[in-house]
Amino acid sequence: MINYLARRLTSMKRIFAVMIAFGLVMGLVFPYLVNPFVSWDPGRKLYFRLMCLAAGFAVGAFCYLLVKVTLARRKAELEEAKKRFSVLTHAAITRQDWEVSLHDDRIPTCWEINDCPATNCPSYGKHHVRCWLVTGTFCRGKAQGHFAQKLGDCTQCGVYRQALARDPISEIGENFNSLMWAVKQREELLAQANNVLQKQYGELEELHRQAKEMAKTDFLTGLRNHGHFQEYLGKEVERARRYGQELSLMMLDLDRFKSVNDRFGHQKGDAVLKQLGMVLRGHVRQSDLVARYGGEEFAVVMPETDWQAAMSAAEKLRTRIGAQVGGSAGLPPGSVRASFGVAVFPDCAPDASSLISAADSALLFAKSNGRNRVVFFRDLPEAGRRQSAM
Ligand code: GH3
Ligand code: MG
Ligand code: MG
Repeated sequence: MINYLARRLTSMKRIFAVMIAFGLVMGLVFPYLVNPFVSWDPGRKLYFRLMCLAAGFAVGAFCYLLVKVTLARRKAELEEAKKRFSVLTHAAITRQDWEVSLHDDRIPTCWEINDCPATNCPSYGKHHVRCWLVTGTFCRGKAQGHFAQKLGDCTQCGVYRQALARDPISEIGENFNSLMWAVKQREELLAQANNVLQKQYGELEELHRQAKEMAKTDFLTGLRNHGHFQEYLGKEVERARRYGQELSLMMLDLDRFKSVNDRFGHQKGDAVLKQLGMVLRGHVRQSDLVARYGGEEFAVVMPETDWQAAMSAAEKLRTRIGAQVGGSAGLPPGSVRASFGVAVFPDCAPDASSLISAADSALLFAKSNGRNRVVFFRDLPEAGRRQSAM
């Protein structure tokens, strides 16, 4: 209350100061100025001075109030524009399109102001599009719509000036739009570059995946190669140890394959190896791993499989190879046969390396005992088993 009265008093003081200034100018100075041109009688002179003084006070008060009212109105307009700008900015942020007042129908457009017939212009017929912001718009023979062009050119354009004639806040908003427009265009460029990078990244990932796949695949048969077999067997043996499970390993070697090459040529020999790969893959469980150990030797890792199941799988494969592989590869039927050695973890060997030795010993025994047969490591004579353990 005290503050309010103090403010009012200051305002009244200002009115009085202006009134007194005007009154003094008009009441004291003006009669002196007109004095040489008028002959006064003393009574009328005093009366005239008082009239001038009163008129001066009145004019002073009127001018002061006029200025004050005009300023107050301008302030209210600015407040209103500020509020509108803040609402629009907030909406732009919420919508995330960063366009302030772009949807303001009250702002006149170029096609309306110029009565423009260019219906193919991107701005034509749209209230939410600014000709000076949209690339590709065309006005009076000049391309518009570039931020730099706008600064150099559009600010002089009648449409631009008319559109922003309402208040400085509109212009600030429009400049903000222009800035955002430029930022958005940069953002689009970045998004495009990002898309290209994403695509290239995807291609690289695919190449990487293919390279990794190739690194563990045998080129001729498409089976897993020796390196992957060793890694896989090591992991599976550890897993079997942890969960107290059995794991069987089958090693097989084609019988007298050198003579197959010698008789039918190496290309036929390759065809036999490919065919063998398909037969092996097609007749073991999905969970078993078939690998080319090297040359015409192959290995099958069978997790969670005991020796009886492994022996019967090996026997089945031996029969299939004899019946299918030679004929399918274009050789006389029965010309391809194989010998097998089987060993099981942990019964035959305590780790991956000795499990391979055990299966290999069984395979060698099969070779030296007539070939085309399956031998289980436990069935080797004592000497053969000891040799493998060493
Ligand atoms: P065994 O019954 O004792 O195993 O006799 P074998 O002739 O099969 O054994 P040996 O080790 O004497 O010969 C293996 C042959 O396997 C020799 C080689 O030409 C052939 N071989 C190894 N890898 C390939 C290959 O990738 N393609 C072809 N065509 N032949 C191969
Ligand atoms: Mg062989
Ligand atoms: Mg061999």
